[in-house]
Amino acid sequence: MNNPLDQSVSVIKGIGEETEHNLQLMGIYTVRDLLEFFPYRYDDFRLRNLEEVQHDERITVEGRVHSEPSLVYYGRKKSRLTMKVLVGKTLITAVFFNQPYLKNKINMQDIITLTGKWDQYRLTITVQEMKLGSVQRTADFEPVYAVKEKLTVKQLRKYIHSAFSTFGDYIEESLPEDIRTSYKLYSRKRAMHSMHFPQSEKDLKQARRAIVYEEFLLFQLKMQALRKFEREHSHGIEINYDLEKLKQFIASLPFPLTEAQKRVVNEICGDLKSPVRMNRLLQGDVGSGKTVVAAMALFAAITAGYQGALMVPTEILAEQHADSLHQLLEPHGIRISLLTSSVKGKKRKLLLEQLQAGEIDLVIGTHALIQNDVNFHKLGLVITDEQHRFGVEQRRILREKGEAPDVLFMTATPIPRTLAITVFGEMDVSIIDELPAGRKTIETYWVKHDMLDRVLRFIEKELQKGRQAYVICPLIEESDKLDVQNAIDVHAMLAQHFGSHYHVGLMHGRLPAEEKDSVMKAFAQNEVQLLVSTTVVEVGVNVPNATMMVIYDAERFGLSQLHQLRGRVGRGNDQSYCILLADPKTEIGKERMKIMTETNDGFVLSEKDLELRGPGDFFGRKQSGVPEFKVADMVHDYRALETARSDAQTFIQSERFWNDAEFKFLRTRLQQSGVLQGEKLD
Ligand code: ADP
Ligand code: MG
Repeated sequence: MNNPLDQSVSVIKGIGEETEHNLQLMGIYTVRDLLEFFPYRYDDFRLRNLEEVQHDERITVEGRVHSEPSLVYYGRKKSRLTMKVLVGKTLITAVFFNQPYLKNKINMQDIITLTGKWDQYRLTITVQEMKLGSVQRTADFEPVYAVKEKLTVKQLRKYIHSAFSTFGDYIEESLPEDIRTSYKLYSRKRAMHSMHFPQSEKDLKQARRAIVYEEFLLFQLKMQALRKFEREHSHGIEINYDLEKLKQFIASLPFPLTEAQKRVVNEICGDLKSPVRMNRLLQGDVGSGKTVVAAMALFAAITAGYQGALMVPTEILAEQHADSLHQLLEPHGIRISLLTSSVKGKKRKLLLEQLQAGEIDLVIGTHALIQNDVNFHKLGLVITDEQHRFGVEQRRILREKGEAPDVLFMTATPIPRTLAITVFGEMDVSIIDELPAGRKTIETYWVKHDMLDRVLRFIEKELQKGRQAYVICPLIEESDKLDVQNAIDVHAMLAQHFGSHYHVGLMHGRLPAEEKDSVMKAFAQNEVQLLVSTTVVEVGVNVPNATMMVIYDAERFGLSQLHQLRGRVGRGNDQSYCILLADPKTEIGKERMKIMTETNDGFVLSEKDLELRGPGDFFGRKQSGVPEFKVADMVHDYRALETARSDAQTFIQSERFWNDAEFKFLRTRLQQSGVLQGEKLD
C-alpha cells in the first residue's frame, strides 16, 4: 500500500482547490512535499539583553513605556510614531512607521514587547512587531518560509502543523537505528518536526544536523551509485602499455619526477591497465608539472598501440602544448599533430585522414577535436586540460568518442575539497600537491593605485635586468558602467612611458586569432618586453623570462583567478614578483588582497575563495554544475559532507544497503532519481 504521505495536500484540513493550486506552484503536491518544505530562516524571539546585541541585528526586547508616544505625519499618508522605552537600565527610542493608530493603544508605563531592527549608535529600535504586555511565546524561534503566490507564512505554518498531527506517524526512518544511535542523530520524524517547530536553539541545531546529513547522504549515494553503475556497465579498454619503454621515457626527462608526480602517474597507469573505464580528475597547482604527467600517460597509451588526444580551451595553449609535447615525445618516435580551428581546407582533410588511418599517434587541439567529422583509428586516452572551462556536455561528448577511451581531466584551478566531492563526485581524483624542488615563491605585494609611480619604477628595474613583465587589466575597452582601467588605455599610457626603450604589446580577446598569436609569439621570443593584456593569458601560458606581473583593479578578480594569473610568472629560475593594484572598499575585499600576499598555495586560496564568495560563484556563472541543497550548506557543513561521502561509499558496496528493510527509504529515493537505471544526474 502506498504511504498516506503520498496523498495530495488537499487531504489536509483547510486546503481547498485554490490553495492546493498555489501550493503546487511552489512545488508542493503531496503531504510529504509539504512536510519537507523547510523554513529558509527563523525569527529569533528570545528576549535579548541590550549589552549583548549587535548593531543592525533583529532583536526582541521587553520594556516599559517611558514617554507619551509622539506622532508625526509626513509625505502622503506616511507617519512615524516614536516613544521612549526603558529596557533594563537603558532608555531607548522605539520607532513605528505608518501605524498611527498605535498612539491610542500604547500608554505611559505599559509593558511592551518589541521586535525589530536595532540601531546601536542611536539606541533606537525600528519596530516590526509589537505586543502589549509581557509575551509568553510558545517557541523562541518562528520559522519563516519562502512562500509564493497568495499564501502567507502563517497559513503555511498552520497546514504543516495540521499535516504533522494527522500524518506525522507515517514519516519513515531513513537510517537504521544503530547508525542513528552512533551518530546521535534525531529520528527522521523528530528532526522534521523540530525543523518546523524548534523548541530551542539546541533543538533546531540537532534537527538541522539530521536533515543535513540525510540530504548529503542521498546526494552522495546518487554519485556513488552512478559510479558503480558506470563501472559495471560501461566496459572500458585494457591498455597494456609497455612498462620498459615508459621507464626509458621517464629516465630521458631532463629532471627527476616529484614524489607527487610519481604517485599520480601510478594512479593513472593503474586505470589504463584496468578494464574499467578511466574517469579521473587530475588536480595540481600552477607549475606543479601536470604537462609531463599528461605526456607520460599519453606515451604509455601509445606504446600499447592506441592513439591519444589532448584537448585544451584556447589555440594559444594548444600550440604551446604541441611545442612542449613535441620536444618530449618526438625523440621517442611519436607522431604528433595540431588540430585547431585555424587548420582548414586541404590541410585539415589530410590530417583527418591520417588520424583515421592511425598515422598520427597524438593529436592536440581545441574544441575542433570533438567535432563529428573527427574520427580516430584507435583512440585509447583523452586528456583535457583546464577542464572546468569545458561544459558538462562537452565532457560527455568527449567520453563518447571512440570505443570508450579512458578520460583524464586536468585542472590547474585547485578545487576545494567540498566542491571536488560534489561537482566531481562521480570521478576519481588525483592530486599533485607538491611543486618541483627549487622553485622560488613569487613575492606578492598589494598597493593602492596612487602608488603607480613606484610600481612603474619597479617594472623598469626588472626590464633593465633583461626580464619581461605582464600588466593585466580587467576589461578591454572603456565602459561607462565600470570604473576600471582598460587594457587599451593602460597600453597607451605604458607605451608612452616605456616606448623609447622597450616594446609594449597589447593582447585581448577581441583581437583576431592571427594577431593574438603573433603578439604571444613576440612576447615568448622577447621581442616584446612588456605585455598589457586582459585575462586571456590566464591559462597555461609559459614564458619563463617574465618575472613580473602587475594586476590592475585586482579586487575585481576571484582569488583563484588571481592565483592563476600570478602563475604566469615564477616559471624560470629568477625571483618573480606580483603586484596587486587595488583599492578595495569592503573589509572582505581587503582581506582577499591580504590573503594573496600571504600564501602561494592554490588550495588554501581556493578554500578561502569558496568561503568568501560561495559555491555558486566559484566556477563562474556559466557552467557551474554546483548542486543545490535545500537545507545543507556545502561550505559550512563540509564535515557532514565528508562523512556522508564515506558512508555512501560503504553503503553502496554493502549487502545490507541493497537488501535491508531499514534502507528502503533511501533506496526508493535513489530509484526515483533514476540513477539506478544509469540515467544521468541533472
Ligand atoms: P602545470 O602543472 O602548471 O601545467 P607544467 O607542466 O607547465 O605545470 O610545468 C611547469 C614547469 O615545470 C615546466 O617548465 C616543466 O618542464 C617543469 N617541471 C615539471 N615537472 C618537473 C620536475 N619534476 N622537476 C623540475 N621541473 C619540472
Ligand atoms: Mg599546464
